[in-house]
Amino acid sequence: MRVLIVEDEAEFANALRVALERERFVVDQADSILMAEEAAKSGSYDLVLLDRTLPDGDGLSLLPILRETHPGLPVIVLSARGEVTDRIAGLDNGADDYLIKPFDVDEMFARIRAVRRRPADLASEEIHVGALVFDVTNDEASVGCQRVELARRELRVLAVLAKRRGRTVLRESLEQAVFGFDDEVQSNTLDSHISRLRRKLTDANAQVEIHAIKGVGYLLKDLS
Ligand code: CA
Repeated sequence: MRVLIVEDEAEFANALRVALERERFVVDQADSILMAEEAAKSGSYDLVLLDRTLPDGDGLSLLPILRETHPGLPVIVLSARGEVTDRIAGLDNGADDYLIKPFDVDEMFARIRAVRRRPADLASEEIHVGALVFDVTNDEASVGCQRVELARRELRVLAVLAKRRGRTVLRESLEQAVFGFDDEVQSNTLDSHISRLRRKLTDANAQVEIHAIKGVGYLLKDLS
């Protein structure tokens, strides 16, 4: 799960990031509407957490833009502005939920689960490659009935490769999916995640190969 936090209060945003990363989310942060627009253009997100009082305006102004460019993308507004009229404005502008600051982080996770459980997500989607089953809804990999234990970033790599199985995925797309845009990406980091992932998939007898295309990217092959 990759989430974009749009929040200008650094301390709050960092606390949120820590909580989300603990739950295996990949987190990007934007501290203005403009930066969030740029991030949404370049990144593919599963969720947006949106503050309202931002240096360049009301965060709600992002909602129509997001609705147009990413129709199914869940957005939860996190705001200290908690009057009924504020909440109605948020929901009417296309937010999926509205959480009033300060809130309990457990409640936030419950709301996140709820917005992800909407009808479109109800049918759990599974991708089969070789003996590997990738559960898109829950971000889980398994072989037979045995879950393959993967680190968060290995899972992200596998998710992207599995969704485009048999096709080449550009190195940059993988890096973008795996690292937050302000993370430092060293050129060999992706390769080290891939080599660990390869080893784990081989150990699990997944009958897939992560094939490297030099200078271009990777593709997930079915070896069964
Ligand atoms: Ca703010």
